[in-house]
Amino acid sequence: MKGGLTFPGGVHPPEYKDLTEDCPIQVVPAPSQVVLPLSQHIGTPCRPTVAKGDTVQAGQVVGDADAFVSAPVHSPVAGKVKAVGLAPHAVLGRCQAVTIETDPNAPDDKAPSPQRFGADFNPETYAPEQIRQAARAAGLVGMGGAGFPTRVKLEPNPEQPKKVLIVNGCECEPFITCDYRLMLEWTDQVIAGVRLAARAAEVERIKIGIEDNKPQAIEAVRRAVETCGMDERIEVCVLRTKYPQGSERQLIRAVLGRHVPSGQIPPAIGVLVMNVATCAALAEAVVLGAPLTHRVVTVTGPAIGAPGNYYVPVGMTVGDLIEHCGGLTERSARVVLGGPMMGLAIADMTTPITKTTGAITFLVDRVVRGDRLARPTPCIRCGRCLAVCPEGLNPTKIAHAVMYEKPDLAEQYYMNVCMECGSCSFVCPAHIELTGYIKTGKILHARAKKRMPP
Ligand code: SF4
Ligand code: SF4
Repeated sequence: MKGGLTFPGGVHPPEYKDLTEDCPIQVVPAPSQVVLPLSQHIGTPCRPTVAKGDTVQAGQVVGDADAFVSAPVHSPVAGKVKAVGLAPHAVLGRCQAVTIETDPNAPDDKAPSPQRFGADFNPETYAPEQIRQAARAAGLVGMGGAGFPTRVKLEPNPEQPKKVLIVNGCECEPFITCDYRLMLEWTDQVIAGVRLAARAAEVERIKIGIEDNKPQAIEAVRRAVETCGMDERIEVCVLRTKYPQGSERQLIRAVLGRHVPSGQIPPAIGVLVMNVATCAALAEAVVLGAPLTHRVVTVTGPAIGAPGNYYVPVGMTVGDLIEHCGGLTERSARVVLGGPMMGLAIADMTTPITKTTGAITFLVDRVVRGDRLARPTPCIRCGRCLAVCPEGLNPTKIAHAVMYEKPDLAEQYYMNVCMECGSCSFVCPAHIELTGYIKTGKILHARAKKRMPP
């Protein structure tokens, strides 16, 4: 099955998905404690709604905010609040968090419930505002990595009406297979969530984008769409496998052939993009009233004992998850939250899994670096970095401006349009860490504009 649709630029890194693509989703039992960051989303961080010593129930809200752009945080376990204070966070370094010691005598019965959704599911049983409120009450955020509160995304805006819902089933990052397994194992639940999202956002057309390296998922989703009689309204689009197709702007380009103007977001052109995992969680939130306390995480890479796809309590630490997954098999060069292209390397194994953590990749030197052990040499002006940049930027010009400490010049080359996908660094024959320079340039530019402390 070959897909013709795609976006300009991009690369084909080795996939390494065979490590986990055939591993069914396994439930991870509650750990002895969870650490729940109060910033797991874009927008206003939550305030704690519990204090040290309080008893909490599984599913209880432990943090919330009054702001519209925010999402409450719930406990995945029953237990006692051990601490409220700063804790490690993969993106922020540290942030306010609620730590809960699990009650060993409380039932640990949270499990996926895809069997609750079938072809006869009727989203019209739910009013659009009821769906949006359920998304907010459940603390739903974009689970593909962005963390944008789902309730806000679903809100209709008369000035920018959404006409198309694009469901992101690309999973273009190497190693990661959690969305693939969701599409295979929880197909009806995903489709139920897609239909609820379209109803809440008042969208008529629905397109589900899946890359052609996932033929079984394409087949399963097509069958589910046909079985529920939605094949006239929902189109499954087979995309040519390429990285970074899962990025919103590139997905829209691939599926619709349309370009989101720089500095704007998809609703500016009437498009709503949602990840398949968020759709599955929306179905649970609306139909079962279940808060987002667990998610599927791919634990993968050559240095982990039992790679697989795991249904993990949010707040479980990376260290506890490593232990559950058979421990490290060799000295790990790098622990990455996410995949090797856009993931974040972490050093602190007490960092918790959050609502946006789709994968942990345990990389070793031979995979991390390969020929990148070679030292950088001067640019040979081959133009490969320009050819692959999905945003049409000139990465070498931006990187050189940063190297010569000219962040304002780098910005004139549209540095802030860069999504840090790493494609330019990946193809550079001179081994220049272009993306690293661009990331540094953004920080320097933000500091120069006094948007960040020194
Ligand atoms: S400049 Fe940015 S967007 Fe373009 S390829 Fe490099 S990292 Fe990706
Ligand atoms: S890919 Fe590397 S060597 Fe080629 S033009 Fe870009 S920076 Fe220069």
